[in-house]
Amino acid sequence: MRCFLCPVRCGADRTKRAGACGVKGISVAKAYLHPFEEPFLSPNMRSGTVFFAGCSLRCVFCQNFEVSRAEKGKSMTPRDLASLFRRLEEEGAENIDLVTADHIIPEVAEALEIFRPHVPVILNSGGYVTEEALSLIDPFIDIYLPDFKFFDPLLAQKFTGRKDYPDIAAAAIGFMAKKPSVAENGQLKRGLAMRHLILPAHTEDSKRVLDTLKGLIPPETPLSLMRQYTPMGDIEGFPELARRVTDREYERVVNYAISLGFSAIYTQEKDSADKKFIPVWD
Ligand code: SF4
Repeated sequence: MRCFLCPVRCGADRTKRAGACGVKGISVAKAYLHPFEEPFLSPNMRSGTVFFAGCSLRCVFCQNFEVSRAEKGKSMTPRDLASLFRRLEEEGAENIDLVTADHIIPEVAEALEIFRPHVPVILNSGGYVTEEALSLIDPFIDIYLPDFKFFDPLLAQKFTGRKDYPDIAAAAIGFMAKKPSVAENGQLKRGLAMRHLILPAHTEDSKRVLDTLKGLIPPETPLSLMRQYTPMGDIEGFPELARRVTDREYERVVNYAISLGFSAIYTQEKDSADKKFIPVWD
């Protein structure tokens, strides 16, 4: 059966070969209690994070390059994945954090049908996901955690090969914003939280991303402005990506978010832009 799940719509027969996303089905690169998710998701630094291999959005600067290109990863059935969720929960996970599952949504939904965690389930998405795919997994998801990466279609084309990224991501975030928000003792239990990774030399695009978000999400939505960009991946042809974000660039974007009225902005320290915070894919 040919796959048209994600916006790439490559039509691969995944029973025989990997699609443009790089995988035939579930492939897990790492699963552990990850200490570095935002405090409103994991106040005790125990996010039950599952990093899936493959990705239908191929950012040249991907901070998890080996994983998104499916160079690492172990194939699993939905039943295996359900057991993994159970194990993470037994180990004390505060949530089950599904990192980049956009290209394997039906299989992950099947795993969640087999084992429904008792802690919040987070869909940690690149934003390049259709509303149809989201509808399949929505009943199992407590928290949506999408990234909104680019405003300018030409920038999206340049860095991912996908000019339609801004439109697809805006529609996906509009869908996700319908999830009612519930927080207890500072921990988000249900709803939407946003992320945006600031790139060097592209603060104007970041500001347009924030303008777009202002029209899509309530101002009190947790908004994580990430400065962890570290030069890596396939960036040889992109000299502007060869450095980290400066203090001035970061402050410009944070101040702009404040001026737009976002009231739950989460910032990152300068030293977050370091390879030591990138998991070892062992
Ligand atoms: S999910 Fe993968 S196989 Fe399916 S359409 Fe997208 S890129 Fe192709």
